[in-house]
Amino acid sequence: GRGSLRLVRRPCRVMVLVNPHSGRGQALQLFTGHVQGMLTEAAVPYTLVITEHQNHARELVRKADLSQWDALVIMSGDGLLFEVINGLMEREDWEEAIQTPLGILPGGSGNALAASIHNYSQSPPAWNEELLLSCGFMLCKGLVVSLDLVSVHLASKQRVFSFLSLAWGFVADVDIESEKYRHIGAIRFLMGTLVRLASLRVYQGRLAYLPIKEAPKPPRNSIKTSPPPSTPQGPPDSLLPGLDQPVPESWTVVREEDFVLVLAIYQSHLAEDLWTVPGALANDGLIHLFYVTAGISRPALLRLFLAMEKGAHLACGCPHLVYEKVKALRLEPLSPQGMITVDGEMVEYGPVQAHIHPGLARLICG
Ligand code: ADP
Ligand code: MG
Repeated sequence: GRGSLRLVRRPCRVMVLVNPHSGRGQALQLFTGHVQGMLTEAAVPYTLVITEHQNHARELVRKADLSQWDALVIMSGDGLLFEVINGLMEREDWEEAIQTPLGILPGGSGNALAASIHNYSQSPPAWNEELLLSCGFMLCKGLVVSLDLVSVHLASKQRVFSFLSLAWGFVADVDIESEKYRHIGAIRFLMGTLVRLASLRVYQGRLAYLPIKEAPKPPRNSIKTSPPPSTPQGPPDSLLPGLDQPVPESWTVVREEDFVLVLAIYQSHLAEDLWTVPGALANDGLIHLFYVTAGISRPALLRLFLAMEKGAHLACGCPHLVYEKVKALRLEPLSPQGMITVDGEMVEYGPVQAHIHPGLARLICG
C-alpha cells in the first residue's frame, strides 16, 4: 500500500552495522536479545558488522561490493546512518549505490528516524524495546519506500547529505551538549533542553528560503543533462546559487535576525519523544522549516518542547514560532561562534545552504 514497493528479494542478504558505543552502550546486546531471533525466524540472512571507530561504517560502505548486499541496516542512533548515507554518496557509482535499501533499528540515544518510520506505519507511539521490536518487524517485512535526502553545503564548499535535520541555535546546542548524557538514553534531550533553558540565549543570523509555492516545477519530459563542471560529485542542486551569491528574487528573506532556534527537518520525529512534524512522510519532498524568534520566554519555549511530545506545539498559538514548507534554504550565522548540526552531528560552523532531493534514497519502512 501507500505507493510502496516490495523490492527486497527474499531471502535477502543484509549487512547489519552496529555501533557498540551508541546510546547506553547496549546496541549489540539489544540486537542479539531482541532482533536476531526475529531475523532468523523470518529467514533473513544477515552479517553483523561491529564498528570500531567513527567513520568506520562510512569507509566500509564507500568501498564495499554492494552487489553482495540487498540492504544495509543500522543498529545505532541517527549518527551512524548519516555516516552510511555519506559513504554511499561519496562513491563514483553513487546513483546506484544510494538505491541500496537502508534499514534502521533504534540502538542509540537519538533514534529520530526509527521513531519516524514507526510513526509512518500508523502505529501508536512506542519507546525503547517496543520501538526496537516494531522496527525489527518492519525489517522482516522488507517493504521499501523512497526517502528524501537534503544536500547541505558548508562554507568550505564541502557538501554532505542529510536524511533528518539541519539545526542551529537551541536545538543544535542541545544536540551536542546532551551527548555527554548519552548513557541515560533518549531522555538526554529533555535533560539537555532543561540545562539549555537555564542559559537561554539569542543567536544572530540571516535566514532565507524558497517556499514550495515559488519553486520552479521541473519540465515534464526533461532530458537529463550533465551537470556543469563546477558541480561536485552527486546530484546538482539546481535551486541553489553559490553561497557567495545573493539568494534569487523568488526566495523569502526572513526579516528577523535574532533567533532562538532554526530547525529544518524532513522526518516526523526529531527524537523518540519529539513529534516535530505530524504530517511529514519519508518522501513528501519537503523541508519542514521551523524557527523561533528572540523574545520568547523560557516557560513558553519549554511549553513548545513539552507539547511536541504529542505533536501539539503548532497549536500552542506561540507568536514566536514560525513554520514553513520549503524546497531550499540558506542560513548565515552572524555570531562569531556557535554550533550547527546535520542529523544530530556537528558540522563546520558558518554559512550553510540546503536543497531537497525528493526520493533520492530508499528506506525499509512500514
Ligand atoms: P547516539 O544516538 O547514541 O548518539 P549515534 O549512532 O548517533 O548514536 O553515534 C554516535 C557517534 O558515534 C556518531 O558520530 C558515530 O559516527 C560515531 N561512531 C560510530 N561507530 C563508532 C565506534 N565504534 N566508536 C566510536 N564512535 C562511533
Ligand atoms: Mg547521535
